[in-house]
Amino acid sequence: MGDMDESTPPVRYPEAVTVADFAANLAAVRARIAAAAARAGRDPDEVRLLPISKTVPADRVRLAVAAGCRQLGENKVQEAKGKAAALADLDVSWSVVGHLQTNKAKDVVAFADEFQALDSMRVAQALDRRLAAADRTLDVLVQVNTSAEPQKYGLEPADVLQFLREVSDLPTLRVRGLMTLALFTPDSELVRRCFRRLRAVRERVRDVDADLLGPGELSMGMSGDYEVAIEEGSTCVRVGQAIFGARATPDSHYWPSAADPAPSGD
Ligand SMILES: *Cc1c(COP(=O)(O)O)cnc(C)c1O
Repeated sequence: MGDMDESTPPVRYPEAVTVADFAANLAAVRARIAAAAARAGRDPDEVRLLPISKTVPADRVRLAVAAGCRQLGENKVQEAKGKAAALADLDVSWSVVGHLQTNKAKDVVAFADEFQALDSMRVAQALDRRLAAADRTLDVLVQVNTSAEPQKYGLEPADVLQFLREVSDLPTLRVRGLMTLALFTPDSELVRRCFRRLRAVRERVRDVDADLLGPGELSMGMSGDYEVAIEEGSTCVRVGQAIFGARATPDSHYWPSAADPAPSGD
């Protein structure tokens, strides 16, 4: 976010270090979710808040759980796996929200309840094999590239219907909806356009075969844009920094960006 428009005031999220800090941050985010839902004439209970704990050490995540987080999202499987083990005594479920390589499917199956970044049949088949062996199912969201940036992960909108048809042959994968990352830009109209595109993909699929999308969740919106996402129909906002505090690790570590076209490994 370092090369944002100069006119945008820098958003600093102070680091939450006590249960009270987390309780305050969660309350503030929930209030903004409720206000955004009200603006859109929506019921705030339709919007799930998924706290994203990436880069946050397990002992600090523990405080967030004490403040009420019951579900946590992580981008990278290795990191998530370590935290799930360190916090195994707590009643939390884990969601993996980042691009997956097929050789990590086994790890996802070992600890995650949800995978939000399904973007290829190869990964779908790898998960299906491991899930079948473990005799379990996995909730998944299909990631869609709504920003038309060639380097972004996710299916092209035009390919989603066919992809969902193929995934529906894999009984271990329970498709719950779609996920996207908007453009990273201070121009909220461009951001809004990405979210509208995701909703339009859902409506197109529903017109053909509503069963392909299960409940039709739309996972869209992060710390910088979740209110716009809710106005455009988000049912799951993935919020990290506004709850845990600013991250030192640049976002380009987690997804390829125009500024850093080489995707990081993992
Ligand atoms: C890190 C991350 C988020 C949350 O971003 P914040 O800026 O911390 O709110 C959301 N979605 C994905 C896929 C992420 O990797």
